[in-house]
Amino acid sequence: MSIEIDLTGKVALVTGASRGIGAEVASLLVKAGAHVLVNGRNEDALTELCQKLNDSFSGTAEPIAFDVTDPQAVKDAFQKIFKVSKRLDILVNNAGILDDALIGMVSQEQIKNTFSTNTYSVLYTSQYAARLMARAGSGSIINIASIIGRVGNEGQAVYAGSKAAVIGITQSLAKELAAQNIRVNAVAPGFIDTDMTKSIPEDKYQQRMDSIGMQRIGTPDDVARSVLFLASDLSSYVTGQVVGVDGGMLV
Ligand code: NAP
Repeated sequence: MSIEIDLTGKVALVTGASRGIGAEVASLLVKAGAHVLVNGRNEDALTELCQKLNDSFSGTAEPIAFDVTDPQAVKDAFQKIFKVSKRLDILVNNAGILDDALIGMVSQEQIKNTFSTNTYSVLYTSQYAARLMARAGSGSIINIASIIGRVGNEGQAVYAGSKAAVIGITQSLAKELAAQNIRVNAVAPGFIDTDMTKSIPEDKYQQRMDSIGMQRIGTPDDVARSVLFLASDLSSYVTGQVVGVDGGMLV
């Protein structure tokens, strides 16, 4: 039996997709035939990535630059999506930042930036996406949480709080939107090889590596494949779940 994921005719928005996990998610969705709106703050980086995706795959990619922490910018972006596409089938809330500090050193600025990017943005985008999806009678929202949002970590109280909140938002929206056939799930990556993890001090990096049962760091593709499953009809009866993609860090 061969199963092919075909997202032809579907419109997707992936936030924070200029690099790392988001870029790989955008790439797999375009490969599956979707029209993907690729978000980030750097217009040049988005245009370059979209050109590459349009040259390589059957689906299409289009840059949509905005800052997910700015509620007006999010509203404007969704107005544009409504005007041009009239629909949104898949929303991947992936944009995120990591800014570690022990609790005594945490600044108000760090708290505000982390929650604005990792958490508030998920509420802003979901609000507009849910309206568009309800019009069409279906949709899939996938929130990129983190293993840290489930078990916490020293020096990561702010990041952990911002990601635990994403899990609470996911479960609440799953309950609220299920009757409209809108599924809401989260993916909780463990330790994935991106710019984000490259910024971690060497001793902490090694500690994390030692805690991975499968004895290798995850790739953006490992995460993107789970997102593709949740975006597609293969998961048509799955909602309110948190899928760990962590190579056995949390078993
Ligand atoms: P990354 O390589 O640092 O990429 C982050 C992406 O988010 C970039 O495309 C960045 O684009 C975008 N972004 C940041 N702030 C934004 C804003 N205000 N508005 C719009 N876009 C914004 O990070 P990553 O490792 O791929 O992480 C992706 C997601 O996975 C994050 O939510 C992260 O918390 C989560 N995660 C990662 C790991 C891991 O080990 N890497 C583990 C667990 C969870 P620009 O800077 O160009 O705007």
